Amino acid sequence: MLFAKPSYRKSLIFIPLLLSLFNVLPLKAASVLAAWVVTSDGVLKLRTSSYAKLNAYYQSGYESFGDRLWIDFPGELTQPRTLNGNGPIKEIRLGKPFKGNTRLVVEFSKDVSLDPAQLKLLGKSPTLWELNLVGLDSANLKSFGEGKIIKTTSSSYVSSSRNRFLSSKVNINDLPNVEVGRYKIIIDPGHGGPDAGAVGIRGLRETDVVLEISKQVSSYLSAKGVQVLMTRKKEIDVDLHERVTFANKSSADVFVSIHANATRGYRRDVSGIETYYFGGAKGRTLATKIQNELINVAGGSPNRGVRKSRFFVIRHTHMPAALVEVGFVTGRLDARLLSQENYKKEIAFAIAKGILEFLKEGY
Ligand SMILES: [Zn+2]
Repeated sequence: MLFAKPSYRKSLIFIPLLLSLFNVLPLKAASVLAAWVVTSDGVLKLRTSSYAKLNAYYQSGYESFGDRLWIDFPGELTQPRTLNGNGPIKEIRLGKPFKGNTRLVVEFSKDVSLDPAQLKLLGKSPTLWELNLVGLDSANLKSFGEGKIIKTTSSSYVSSSRNRFLSSKVNINDLPNVEVGRYKIIIDPGHGGPDAGAVGIRGLRETDVVLEISKQVSSYLSAKGVQVLMTRKKEIDVDLHERVTFANKSSADVFVSIHANATRGYRRDVSGIETYYFGGAKGRTLATKIQNELINVAGGSPNRGVRKSRFFVIRHTHMPAALVEVGFVTGRLDARLLSQENYKKEIAFAIAKGILEFLKEGY
C-alpha cells in the first residue's frame, strides 16, 4: 500500500496578535502610521492616528529567512523604504502590499526566534502602541526609528488580545522516521537529588530544567518507536559511574546527557548553547546534529558550537555519546528562556530531532 509522503516543509504560521477597535478609513487616506521606534531594550513603539485599526502577524523563519513580524495599518504609505537594523534586527521595511495600506515589517537576524505567544501589541493610549519583543537578545541592539514617539503615563487600555500560540517548532510530524523498535537510547538528565547542579537567576536550578527537558525528549523519541531508558526519572542523585555502567550494560545505541550551564563569576551577559562529544566521528556527528537542531529553536541564545571534551559520562560510555548544555541558568537571556514551558518543549524537540537524524543518517 502506498502512503502519501508527509511533507517536512515547515508551514508558515501567521498569528494575529491583536485586532483592535473600530476605525474605517477611506481607501485613499494617508497612512495612520506617524512614527515608530525600536528601543535598545527591544520594544517596538508606534504612534498612529487616534483609534487606528492595526493587525499584527508573526511568521517563523524558513530556509534562509529569519523570523519576521509585521503590522498592517490603514492608509497608504507614500514612500516605501527599507532601513538597516542592528544587532538581532536585520532590517525594517515599510511598504504598501496593497492599495490603501501600510505595512511595517521587522525582519530578524537568522538566529533569532521568538515565541509568538509572548508577543502582544498593546494600545497604551489612543495613539500609542507597544510590542515588547520578549526573548530578543537586546545586548547589541541600538535604538532606531523614524519620527517622534511621545511618552505616555496611561496604562494599557486594550484588554482583548487574540494571541494564540501555535509553535511551528514542535510538531511530531516534523520528526524523522526511523525503524520502529530498532533503537535504544539512553537519556541522562544531569545531577539530581541533593546535587542541584548549577543554580542561576531567580533560583533556576539545572536539575529541574534538565529533568523536565529529558522527560520530554523521551516522550518525543518514544512517539517515534524508539526505546528510551533514563538514568533518572526523579530528583535522586545518581553517581556518574552508575550512569555509565547502566548505559554500557543496556547496549544502547546512543547516549545523550543533558545539562545546563553556569558561569563561575555568575555573569549574566553570558548565554548560549553548546554540545560536547568525546571522541570518534560518530560522537561528533551526533553532537553536531543535536547542536544544529538546537540552534534552529534557540530563542536568540548564541551558538557556542560543538566541542570536544573529556566529561566522564561521554568518555566512558561505549556507544556514540553527546553532552548537551541547553543554556546558562546564570545568563539573563537563557534563564528567561529556560523558565518558559514552551521553550523547554522546543529544546527537547530539537534534541530528539537531532538524535533521530543521527539514527537515520549517521548511524
Ligand atoms: Zn551539569
